[in-house]
Amino acid sequence: MARLPAPPDLDWTPEGTPVARQFDDVYFTTADGLEEARAVFLAGCGLPERWQGRRVFTVAETGFGTGLNFLALWDLWRRTRPSPTAQLHFVSFEAHPLAESDAARALSAWPELSPLAERALARWPACPRGVRSISWPGEGVSLTLHIGDIAEALPRSVFSADAWFLDGFSPSRNASMWDQGLYPLIAARTAPGGVAATFTVARAVREGLSTAGFEVSKQPGFGRKRERLEARFAGSGAPAPGALAWHAPASPAGKVAIIGAGIAGACVAREARSAGLQPALFDPKGPGAGASGNPLALIMPRLDAGDTPQARLLIDAYLHAQAAFQGLPGAEMTSVHQSPRSDEEAARFAKVLADPPLPLEDLEAVAGGGLLHKRALVVRPKQILEDCMAGVACHFGAPVETDLAALRVNGDAFDAIVLASGMGIAAAGPWLGLTGKLGQVEHAAGQTPAPASAVAAGHYALAWGEERLWGATYAPATDGEAHVSAAAQAANAAALETLAPWWHRQASQSAVTSHAGIRATTPDRLPVAGALPDIARARRVFAPLARGQSVDAPAPCLPGVYLVGGLGSRGFTFAPWLARLVIAGLTGAPIPAARPSLEAVSPMRFILRGLKRGTLNPAP
Ligand code: SAM
Repeated sequence: MARLPAPPDLDWTPEGTPVARQFDDVYFTTADGLEEARAVFLAGCGLPERWQGRRVFTVAETGFGTGLNFLALWDLWRRTRPSPTAQLHFVSFEAHPLAESDAARALSAWPELSPLAERALARWPACPRGVRSISWPGEGVSLTLHIGDIAEALPRSVFSADAWFLDGFSPSRNASMWDQGLYPLIAARTAPGGVAATFTVARAVREGLSTAGFEVSKQPGFGRKRERLEARFAGSGAPAPGALAWHAPASPAGKVAIIGAGIAGACVAREARSAGLQPALFDPKGPGAGASGNPLALIMPRLDAGDTPQARLLIDAYLHAQAAFQGLPGAEMTSVHQSPRSDEEAARFAKVLADPPLPLEDLEAVAGGGLLHKRALVVRPKQILEDCMAGVACHFGAPVETDLAALRVNGDAFDAIVLASGMGIAAAGPWLGLTGKLGQVEHAAGQTPAPASAVAAGHYALAWGEERLWGATYAPATDGEAHVSAAAQAANAAALETLAPWWHRQASQSAVTSHAGIRATTPDRLPVAGALPDIARARRVFAPLARGQSVDAPAPCLPGVYLVGGLGSRGFTFAPWLARLVIAGLTGAPIPAARPSLEAVSPMRFILRGLKRGTLNPAP
């Protein structure tokens, strides 16, 4: 299977309705797709009445297509939103994502939707397999799009829906979207009393739904269709969280304390505000005092050769950072010319290009075996942090006293605490095995003005306007202090001479300032995000792992306490995605990641591994 999903093979009816040649079916009725969406899915799910009085409402869909159902729903939400702080989450699944231009063409049939269509198209999800998460905070609307075949993506998804739109082409033309194996998965992701609606009354669909616990009823159909289905879930839904799974909050969080004002904490604060929470950000040293304080930073993808959970996670995080920062005054799109450092790396690049995980808009081959990342970003961390912290209550420059068990910070009570203080989180989780890596970069101002550009080969060099930045070194932080050193400056100068001698010549004639920071790094180099495990209970519950036995139990966690950390040298790439994961976990929103990605960043992984490998003692 190619890493990029196959685009749909589209035909268009004379009325402008898209037709999928592969399935020989229309995306929506040619007569009036919008009215059909309203009658079959919105009214079929009892909307808007069903969301009255709700603080959060989640709708899931099989088959995102042109996004018409999503826009019809958003339009109804605008007119009937239960309260100014209510949140609507839409989760959808799509194997063959439409290009933005095709979606625009299809949606142009409804001028009344054009204000919303423009907003959706402006942030149209990138097509690589994985999970895209887009939100429109002012509207209280979020979209979580799982890209990939539903048979793979649905079991990996984590959410609980109040309503389902089942919209996967006609069952007789596309059996994969109505497979009997899907209904139990749908039921496991349906809240008690949740509903489902669809245009088809095919017997297999009715049987699948009722066997999974839905009460199904036929209703008068829309347009030329005689009948349609409505279903109500009579089961209890939601699977129990596993050892690495995400924890829904015991009570909805309102006041959230965030400890640490580097890029991780700042992104958590921004996400918390977008989700309608009240974040308070604490840092004794102020914003960007640690590793996030360099004058410029680069956001570029790390591309693995294989299609592993880790490779997908890296792409999800990169695409999320790209979408989160693009267009901010502190960010500029740039291309990065990445040259291989070794034959091994050249072979990896060749594999990546043979089966690219990003589309041509993002990635191309360059002469000499290199990669050209065409939509990377150069950012000014200070400006990005300010942007993230706008409207957030900031408590800087004073000591921070945290009582995790009582959920108190400096004596004040919170509903949740997120620890995002770099190496500071090691105190709450020594078993994370965090180590500090010392990274130094060099900066020169007053250079010949240049558009944003970057070159990389292990080290990297950036230009933006009159600034240049290059580095970075990567060494153990032996005494935990962020010292600059002449040796690191010399190593960076040597690397710049190879990467961009023309920049080096000019920069070396001006004042060069060195910046050092400590990057908190985990043993497996992947970051951590999620609920903070209760280590004492976890060592007891999972003790049998130490004896080679298996345990099927949820992870015991400290209620209301979360971690974001271990971002290593990819802070600006990981932070927006991790922040969204944690705020989704904390508010009970759909988790914008596939389960293998969640497991790969779960703090619990180190406890489970430690018990299995005998490096962590089980409790008696
Ligand atoms: N709800 C859409 C809209 O508002 O435009 C129309 C959905 S269209 C009827 C069905 C969608 O299901 C198509 O976009 C198609 O690519 C997608 N699809 C078909 N088979 C799939 C599969 N096995 N997994 C995921 N998506 C699939």
